[in-house]
Amino acid sequence: MNVCKVLLRECVRQTDKAYTYMIPEDLEGKITEGSYVKVPFGFGNRKQTALVTAVSDSSRVTGFDISKLKKVDSLLDLYPVMNKDQMALIEPLRSRLLCTSGDVISMMVPSAVGTVGKAKASFVDVASKEDAEAALDSGKLRSMAHISMLEYLLANGPTERKKLLSITKASDAQLRSLREKELITVTTRLLSREEVSAEEKITEEESSDSFRVIHDLNDEQQRAFNSVTESLGKPEVFLLHGITGSGKTEVYLKCAGEVIERGGCVIYLVPEISLTPQTVSWIRGRFGDTAAVMHSRLSDRQRYDEWDRIRRGDARIVVGPRSSIFAPVKDLQLIIIDEEHDSSYKSESFPKYSTRDIAFLRMRINSCPLILGSATPLVSSYYSAANGQYKLLKLNKRAAHDAVLPEVTIVDMKEQVKEGYGDLLSGPLRVAMAKAFSKDQQVMLFLNRRGYSRTLVCNTCGEPVYCPSCSVAMTLHNSTRIEGRRLICHYCGFTIPCSEASCRECNGTKFKRAGVGTQQLEEMLKELYPDRKVLRMDQDTTMLPGAHESILSAFREHEADILVGTQMIAKGHDFPSVTVVGVLGADLIATSSDYKASERAFELITQAAGRAGRGRERGQVYLQSLRPDNPLLMYAAKQDYDAFYESEIKYREVMCLPPFKAVGEIVLSLPDEDMLATRTSDLGKYLKDFLSYQDKALGFELYGPVPAPIYELRGRYRNVFMIKSSRRSYLNGVFRQVMEDFDPNIYPISFDNDAGGS
Ligand code: ADP
Ligand code: ZN
Repeated sequence: MNVCKVLLRECVRQTDKAYTYMIPEDLEGKITEGSYVKVPFGFGNRKQTALVTAVSDSSRVTGFDISKLKKVDSLLDLYPVMNKDQMALIEPLRSRLLCTSGDVISMMVPSAVGTVGKAKASFVDVASKEDAEAALDSGKLRSMAHISMLEYLLANGPTERKKLLSITKASDAQLRSLREKELITVTTRLLSREEVSAEEKITEEESSDSFRVIHDLNDEQQRAFNSVTESLGKPEVFLLHGITGSGKTEVYLKCAGEVIERGGCVIYLVPEISLTPQTVSWIRGRFGDTAAVMHSRLSDRQRYDEWDRIRRGDARIVVGPRSSIFAPVKDLQLIIIDEEHDSSYKSESFPKYSTRDIAFLRMRINSCPLILGSATPLVSSYYSAANGQYKLLKLNKRAAHDAVLPEVTIVDMKEQVKEGYGDLLSGPLRVAMAKAFSKDQQVMLFLNRRGYSRTLVCNTCGEPVYCPSCSVAMTLHNSTRIEGRRLICHYCGFTIPCSEASCRECNGTKFKRAGVGTQQLEEMLKELYPDRKVLRMDQDTTMLPGAHESILSAFREHEADILVGTQMIAKGHDFPSVTVVGVLGADLIATSSDYKASERAFELITQAAGRAGRGRERGQVYLQSLRPDNPLLMYAAKQDYDAFYESEIKYREVMCLPPFKAVGEIVLSLPDEDMLATRTSDLGKYLKDFLSYQDKALGFELYGPVPAPIYELRGRYRNVFMIKSSRRSYLNGVFRQVMEDFDPNIYPISFDNDAGGS
């Protein structure tokens, strides 16, 4: 007789421990470490999903009566769902992410395991058309999500749950609340064969002509390749720093190819946004069936199939977004994180993991190299490389022989306003656009709305209002609790009424909201260039699944002359006919309220500029700014990362910011503002006392509370405390203590031990 130890997937803190079950005769030999099973649990013997962590002979079990053990009910998947390397992640992740083992298991094992094969889906519909219309007309609905869901259902009829949530950007809780109001119904049923195949069809990849040629590596690339391959078998971190177009991708691919040839496996992470059908098709072209590509257009079924090929060792290179760091590869010998600075590597929902942290864990567990690659690495990564903790590999020139860097002009918008061009499109940019159009070339205009309308800038000189002690821009804040509009420093909590703001550059006292949106820009372009077609890409135009790609491919097919967009268009897309790029409000990008704003601005401007002149002609880039002397713009214009790094790292050191100190956040969120105020004050007192008792060597400093940058979100209000400490692990200690001492039902708290990190 054998018994097994299991961890429950749906556990809470009290039940987050190993339970022992008897293995029934018919499952003997089939259940091994890593098996997924159903077990009866608790008084009611409800069936629960569980992961088997150990199997042993019952004669070795001591301490309790074996005959009283319950039996495993069934096996969910014929093959183990986790291998040993993955199981080694459970405990460290549980403790770092302050979650249960079950949360970790849910993160690592696709939800389709055990259910796949019986294609089922939930459908949502209005309970009654009349009630839904009456509810909308009454004006009593207070949630935009509720309104959007009802409107969508009335217009489109029954809709698959996931699709509805993604289109209306509603949460599960909001769906539930509509259901409790009896306005909608949710039914689960098996999908018909047609529906299943329709679902799979959407995700079929268009075959692409942009097949990547395989190049012989140049000297710089070869050196990078040699360093990495010499380190195979050792846990070593490489930072591959190379300007866009310097051939980093080619280095990754050659390294990956080498590992595969030696019989190993590779995890190759890229930001979700770069997993376009084109990328998918050239990866397939290069690696064939050895590659598993995990992109968001896969159906649950396809996702399961890819995952299954990985765990059986059929697929040996996994290309995917952050969640692919958990992939069940058989013999991991290399991890690659492309665009390592990208913010999508940090998960936004609980448990908030950092892909980089998990990559480091896996690197140590498997003793394999890790490549972090970027044209604009995180300042903290570059610091580690400068210190010798990471090995720095540099690619200094563009790889393609005919490629040249674009010519970048910084335009002083204060002058342009005086000359009568307004503050949107400068004279030089208009001239360049006209020239491009005359040659039938395309133009991209890049407008970052983030940090725009929430900032006030001086009417006369364009300088934003800065916090006197933190050198970060203050954020405009509206609250029913606070009289009038106020400016708040999200860093230290310093606040003033807007009426008291004055400009630190020119002492001006008149301010206006910064910037305009993409929509106004689009309208203006239509007026200025009535014969030219404009496409716009931002959050509003990319709501529907697939919209993102159809806009990009329309632009690539030259169905429009101008593409206007937010940071979405700045990343990694190649459009050979684009010769002119305008970055509007370049300085304001840096005017966000957290310490990583400069780093992000440098990255975005460099990326945006990199879009120009990917074809034969040299690109022209215009950086329009109200503060043209901002050094950041000059560094970005010259693509001089090193100069940017030198100035930024000094600032971080003076301000005691990462990498010199760890910065963590505690966010309290409640549906009622008064409640939030009282509980914030309770928590604040506690933190102050608790931290003042700690050893000085731990270096704790408490800031806040301040309202979160997005104070009101999905019907909840949020306040933030910031804690600095000399180490990240010390922050976790504080978080753990707060979790012990505060009931999460009364104090809904979330933690982040790497605030602003990725
Ligand atoms: P990165 O990832 O650094 O932005 P890529 O790897 O995408 O750069 O390379 C940019 C371009 O240079 C691609 O078109 C690629 O085909 C080409 N390229 C890469 N390596 C070489 C090489 N050794 N010789 C010639 N062209 C190259
Ligand atoms: Zn401040």
